[in-house]
Amino acid sequence: EFRSSAALARVKPSPTLAVTQKARELKAAGRDIISLGAGEPDFDTPDFVKEAAIKAIRDGKTKYTAVDGIPELKEAIIAKFKRDNDLSYDASQITVAPGGKAVLYNALVATLNPGDEVIIPAPYWVSYPDMALLAGGEPVFVEAGAETNFKLTPETLEKAITPRTKWFIFNSPSNPTGAAYSRDELKALTDVLLKHPDIWVMTDDMYEHIVYGGFEFTTPAQIEPALYDRTLTVNGASKAYAMTGWRIGYAGGPQPLIKAMSKVMSQSTSNPCSISQWASVAALNGDQSFLDERNAAFKARRDMVVDMLNDADGISCAKPEGAFYVYPSCAGVIGKKTPDGAVISNDEDFARELLEAEGVAAVFGAAFGLAPFFRVSYAASTEELREACTRIHRFASSLR
Ligand code: PLP
Repeated sequence: EFRSSAALARVKPSPTLAVTQKARELKAAGRDIISLGAGEPDFDTPDFVKEAAIKAIRDGKTKYTAVDGIPELKEAIIAKFKRDNDLSYDASQITVAPGGKAVLYNALVATLNPGDEVIIPAPYWVSYPDMALLAGGEPVFVEAGAETNFKLTPETLEKAITPRTKWFIFNSPSNPTGAAYSRDELKALTDVLLKHPDIWVMTDDMYEHIVYGGFEFTTPAQIEPALYDRTLTVNGASKAYAMTGWRIGYAGGPQPLIKAMSKVMSQSTSNPCSISQWASVAALNGDQSFLDERNAAFKARRDMVVDMLNDADGISCAKPEGAFYVYPSCAGVIGKKTPDGAVISNDEDFARELLEAEGVAAVFGAAFGLAPFFRVSYAASTEELREACTRIHRFASSLR
């Protein structure tokens, strides 16, 4: 008889995948479905990056590499941290893994003991709590709600800290809300962390380059150099360079932690794909100007989606600083009924009935730890987004 491990039994299956699966089934059954569920840019990987990968294959860079990354990629990452974040690392402080997800997971596996607490602001990216659980720790949720534009306040952070707190996970710009912390907002949090020298900071900067309107991205170790010795600054190729399938994530941090993470990889995944590593060298060292062009397209879509959603009855949507998500509230439709008589009693009902009635797939907020909201990804074409918002509008108007 199959029985999963006790650690795995604590983990729930991904609700975002469940929504995608349902949408896929309806599509296969011939329904006209628009998915707003994507967690990846709809742009293609830049050509110069693809060329570097092809060259790597031709040059025979097809063998095992150093477990946590080739020296050339570590050099490119060191230059990136200096250039973008004013952070200085040497090669022994850099790790490369198969995706940002693997970096985060390796760090948790390398450090958590049973009972260790991981503070996670909610709404959160769905993997943080379950990765913490898998690694034997205990997620502790702190609310960062709509009143504070989905940003954690220093008071709320302070209250969540206990002697068991091991990590504080920070994500800006955020998946699922798109909220990004200004320098001052972040400084208020790092001031709290300074008072608690045993807490380590895991900052997930995956959406660093996707910010709008002159927003200045900052990261904890840059804002508060006194946290440098206990901060893991995580980033990756996936979102910035539209390289989700290549699986390259990286981090800079204190040497003992980086070494421990390398040990985890040496007995699990081994090195990330050699070809993807060479492609990432090109991505990080190459001309970055395409980022601005892509951001201009994302920004135009964000503005359209926010305006159209705010026009819908009972929906209210904040305009976030970055990423490619918005997180509208559906509080105004809770308690209403669809024309078929189905009661919308929470955001999960809302998302399900919206998919059923209008064929628009979006992930409900409870999946990210804050209801009643839903997440809209605008990594889709303008035409699709316009049509999806028109359908949401029609659905909201149909509720009584
Ligand atoms: N962190 C956040 C906030 C994300 O949204 C994602 C991807 O959805 C990741 C990390 C993981 O990125 P990767 O594909 O590099 O593992």
